[in-house]
Amino acid sequence: MERIVSADPLTIERAARWIREGRLVAFPTETVYGLGANALDADAVARIFTAKGRPATNPLIVHIADIDTLDRIAQPTEDARRLAQAFWPGPLTLVLPKMPGVPDIVTAGGETVAVRIPSHPIALALLRAAGVPIAAPSANRSESISPTRAEHVARSLGPELEMILDGGPCDVGLESTVLDLTCDPPAILRPGMVSAEEIAAVLGKRVATGHRDGDGVAKSPGQMLRHYAPSSPLRLSENIWCEIPETGRVSILAYTLPPDSIRPGTHIHFLPKLPNPYAANLYSALHALDADHPDLILVQQVPDTEEWTAVRDRLRRASAS
Ligand code: AMP
Ligand code: MG
Repeated sequence: MERIVSADPLTIERAARWIREGRLVAFPTETVYGLGANALDADAVARIFTAKGRPATNPLIVHIADIDTLDRIAQPTEDARRLAQAFWPGPLTLVLPKMPGVPDIVTAGGETVAVRIPSHPIALALLRAAGVPIAAPSANRSESISPTRAEHVARSLGPELEMILDGGPCDVGLESTVLDLTCDPPAILRPGMVSAEEIAAVLGKRVATGHRDGDGVAKSPGQMLRHYAPSSPLRLSENIWCEIPETGRVSILAYTLPPDSIRPGTHIHFLPKLPNPYAANLYSALHALDADHPDLILVQQVPDTEEWTAVRDRLRRASAS
């Protein structure tokens, strides 16, 4: 059986049955492809950690189909309900006190749980058909580039992963914003395409970011600096057309045109200088550049403004050695 299957009512039904049986299924969300298991089945969730080579200290996001399921997983606050109303289904994950039924392995033993309703129609159909919450990190080996297409999943995870539901490329392309609502003020643990400003506007109060370049956030257990990284070394460059090494095979990711004097044979991949389409295509571009196994991937640094925060965060992590 081919393991990449086009998502349709029949394959979604089969995937849902597999989830209920404790097996793993990779599926598309609007952010990146997820590697899903029944969140209430500790043995099934353990298989996610094994398949990814993910440290047990890094908790998972629980995906739910509807707001009614939220109370079974977490203890939502007034702020949580307001944000759910404003941003769900969508790429915002809320960290809340957990309910007792959530297995320890999902939360890495902690008393809080991360939860969201995804907006991708196939993710929602799978959640509804499965009838259980689905714990799902990105469907790639730990620390490598997240998958935004079914074939990225197939390349990253071994043949032990039996089903990848193909829903085409992901629209958002970067992992969800993770917001901790168990502290005051609420804190962004991972920036995403839902911004701190948008969240603050809904809550009518300040949101801690601590996530400008260079800062680390201690509270989020899974935020290792090296993450989302290609296998070739990646360097960020403010002045990209002046910093190309004289020797070696260099692949470039840029949003401005090169001067005529550029060394022939240099592999250049262009993305638009617009945060949303850039984010949507960033991981695909990195997968493509990395596939050539260059000696260096040189990436043109993006602007240091609010709407580029999530992209800058991922580029910084990808460049950490
Ligand atoms: P991923 O690796 O893409 O699944 O991302 C999950 C993110 O959510 C990681 O950064 C985790 O550290 C974070 N996360 C999940 N659960 C919690 C939690 N209970 N408290 C804080 N951060 C969490
Ligand atoms: Mg991940």
